[in-house]
Amino acid sequence: MTYAEIRRRGAKRRIRYLLLILLLMSIIIFAVVKIVTGIRQRQTIPTGTGDIPVIVDASAETGENTESTELLPVIETIPISEPIISESMAVTPTVPIHRRSSEGGTLHVKQPYLYLRVGHTKQIPLILSNNVTADQVEWSTNNPDMIDIEPDGTVTGLQKGSCNVYASYGEETLEIPVTVRELITIAGCTYVDGILVANKSYALPEDYDPGLLPVTKEAFDALSLAAKGQGLNIYEGSGYRDYAFQVKCYNSMVSGYSKAYADTWSARPGHSEHQTGYTIDCNSIDNEHFADTPEGKWLAANCYKYGFIIRYPKGKEKITGYNYESWHIRYVGREHAAIIHEQDLALEEYLDIDSVYRDGDPDASLDSDLPDGMETDTDTEE
Ligand SMILES: [Zn+2]
Repeated sequence: MTYAEIRRRGAKRRIRYLLLILLLMSIIIFAVVKIVTGIRQRQTIPTGTGDIPVIVDASAETGENTESTELLPVIETIPISEPIISESMAVTPTVPIHRRSSEGGTLHVKQPYLYLRVGHTKQIPLILSNNVTADQVEWSTNNPDMIDIEPDGTVTGLQKGSCNVYASYGEETLEIPVTVRELITIAGCTYVDGILVANKSYALPEDYDPGLLPVTKEAFDALSLAAKGQGLNIYEGSGYRDYAFQVKCYNSMVSGYSKAYADTWSARPGHSEHQTGYTIDCNSIDNEHFADTPEGKWLAANCYKYGFIIRYPKGKEKITGYNYESWHIRYVGREHAAIIHEQDLALEEYLDIDSVYRDGDPDASLDSDLPDGMETDTDTEE
């Protein structure tokens, strides 16, 4: 073989190698492009409806002769189909917008909805114009089995479900959606519409000890990650607290101040929302001005997208029984949270429940500032 031939063969081999490398590179590029487009497509798919807690009575389902702790209800949640990875991907369930007045403008309502419990009675406050009087308005419903309606617009819940009430004057008709809920007790726990309740009126059993529930943790992680994307740091300051721990918290606050004062900030044992496993206090509770921080503002505006509500809102102190706590969020699922946020409600209003200790102790002033030298802290607040 001549030197020239050797060089030619060498050149041919190099060309073959080069072609092979080019082929491999194009395969890799094609694969990468495919993966990236796939991810983009997945990101645009809505992640479905919210996580609505569903109650399953474990004992009823298994049919076993369960005792004591086994009777505790199992809260099943419809899992988030895909994790939320950024704020822009957070699902905002649509909340129906109801008309506040009928066409023609004679009949108006302050709140275009009514939440009512079975056995409870409420009156729909109408605002009338054009010199129309209340006795000229006619009331009706599309479901007389669900609610009873009096000629003066007084509504009584008969069975759970959703229906409409109609207020009519002449040609005008105003439609007001009514949701009737049922309060049930399973193994000492109180549920309204699948939402576990813990407030001054409703306590949890001493041995109810679920820990911070995975659904809460998962939703909080998504929230925290979205906040991080906005350059904000929202972290878990205090999450789950069991009964025994709350005994210490409450007692230390009572001995440090007074029982009446402690009751506006700290829950009595069994009455703490932190024992539900659905509650998280965000960031440092030493910061009573959390509401004014960028984190506090973002949380108030966005937590509902992740299924949380600000549990003790400002201006609702008399309804919730607690002072405004901008850091305390409660998981209720995205569907409920979106409605509660949109309609600016406290959970008590949404579920038609009260929050009052039954021992007749008067509540201390709920809008009082913290006394000098006193700071709320993770260990003592509700
Ligand atoms: Zn709290």
